[in-house]
Amino acid sequence: MGKEVKQIRYDVAVIGGGITGVLTARVLSRYRLRVAVLEAADDVAMGATKANSAIVHAGFDPKPGSLKASLNVKGCEQMGTLTKELDVPFRRIGSLVVAFGEEDDRTLLALKERGIENGVPGLELWDRERLTREEPNLSKEASSALYAPTAGIVCPYELCIAAAESASVNGVDFYFRFRVSGILRTEEGFRVTDGSETVETRYLVNAAGVHADEIASLAGEKDFPVRIVPRRGEYMLLDRSVGNTASHVLFVCPSVNGKGILVSPTVDGNLLLGPTAAEIPDRNDTATTAEGLAAVADGARKLVPGIRTNTVITQFSGIRPTPFDRNGASADFLIRPSDQIPGLLHLAGIESPGLASSPAVSEYAVSLLFSMGLKADPNPEYRPGRPRKIRFREMNDEERRDLIAMNSAFGKIICRCETVTEGEIVDAIRRPLGARDLDMVKRRTRAGMGRCGSGFCSPRVMEILSRELGISMDEVTKCGGKSYLIPGTTDSE
Ligand SMILES: Cc1cc2nc3c(=O)[nH]c(=O)nc-3n(C[C@H](O)[C@H](O)[C@H](O)COP(=O)(O)OP(=O)(O)OC[C@H]3O[C@@H](n4cnc5c(N)ncnc54)[C@H](O)[C@@H]3O)c2cc1C
Repeated sequence: MGKEVKQIRYDVAVIGGGITGVLTARVLSRYRLRVAVLEAADDVAMGATKANSAIVHAGFDPKPGSLKASLNVKGCEQMGTLTKELDVPFRRIGSLVVAFGEEDDRTLLALKERGIENGVPGLELWDRERLTREEPNLSKEASSALYAPTAGIVCPYELCIAAAESASVNGVDFYFRFRVSGILRTEEGFRVTDGSETVETRYLVNAAGVHADEIASLAGEKDFPVRIVPRRGEYMLLDRSVGNTASHVLFVCPSVNGKGILVSPTVDGNLLLGPTAAEIPDRNDTATTAEGLAAVADGARKLVPGIRTNTVITQFSGIRPTPFDRNGASADFLIRPSDQIPGLLHLAGIESPGLASSPAVSEYAVSLLFSMGLKADPNPEYRPGRPRKIRFREMNDEERRDLIAMNSAFGKIICRCETVTEGEIVDAIRRPLGARDLDMVKRRTRAGMGRCGSGFCSPRVMEILSRELGISMDEVTKCGGKSYLIPGTTDSE
């Protein structure tokens, strides 16, 4: 066990600062409870939550009667209220599963039936004429589509950061760079350590994503009910200039390997293509590959033949924690108390539609904790929101003038591509769970997300980080650890 034991004894410690763990902690903050989130990375949203398709699925895909089905439909419905509370952009643009020929047409009928059984509202079958009218860039080979009006798009890491800020202002403690490496059962609950610090807690929530089976094993659980297989998905993100190529989320018909390559606008106005689905041996290997990206481009062109990949601004990949049962069949979300370790709750195997389901998963997780014996009164000071966030690029001239009159830092543009001001960067650093490196600033403000690949704004953001954090320029990092940006100084001779 680690040497330094925290004096606070928590009621609940959540392992994992992805969307599942963070929203669960936020729901817990509605009660008078001491809650901690233990996260291995430097920030929240660094696992699957950072790199996914960003779709709030309507819920017609999961098997009726499964947890995936009920939590997806409920989560999709709740996403509107949640994003309003957290002031996070969310657009219900609707999705289309596109058929190419008679076999696909039959699949759409089955999907529609399944959606109705799952309780998805408003599903419609669109014929070719309607499709051409609504999505003029779609392939002429498309024969029909299933339209789901409740599907939407959200920025997954922005949602997670906002939820974490809200949890933090409501009293949740966040421990970063806390990679759980030991779990000891005590009379009162658990001692959880990363090898140097130790946290005591009565209840433990396992929301460790693709590492959830390892956490179960650290806690002493034998024969975890699901085998978690890392399945990587690669993406290309295209520039805003082609962001209006599609108005809905465009899917092909699903197969055994998942939902296939999609084409979707993002809430920030870009166009997203992907993902692939490839099982990989290393759970942390988020590389992109030439073959993967070629498959993304081919798949996207099946839906929209005119897509130009010369507008790619970045490529990335995310890893799904795909669960299989003991017979090797694809498994449901594993959301249940451990049947071996009292006080341990598993939120495991949360692959897609885990983002869409997350508001409902977190509510369900907390109801399970109560059924496991957790008791708490409501927290009368709970506030669902987070400190106001300024988005200069979305303001009109009058609003901008008023803001600059109050604080001249909003009159200085630091990121030209995304119109991000110095005031927003300073705010990102000073907010709850504030930014401490370049990438944290980027995820909180979009500075550096544009076409120039942060060539212009990086040195300026570094100066602001250095000034605000009281560190020298050569201590500023790209993404924590030893990712220093200045390796040395040039000789002035
Ligand atoms: C390619 C891809 C596409 C997807 N598309 C969609 C989509 O469009 N819509 C949708 O609804 N869902 C989608 N998903 C699924 C969705 O991204 C996940 O279900 C969701 O992000 C899971 O969140 P999580 O918090 O459970 O896991 P994660 O986000 O992976 O978080 C787990 C956290 O646990 C931390 N951790 C792990 N081990 C330890 C340890 N020992 N100690 C401390 N911390 C630890 C990790 O650092 C990580 O931050 C997709 C996923 C992928 C990969």
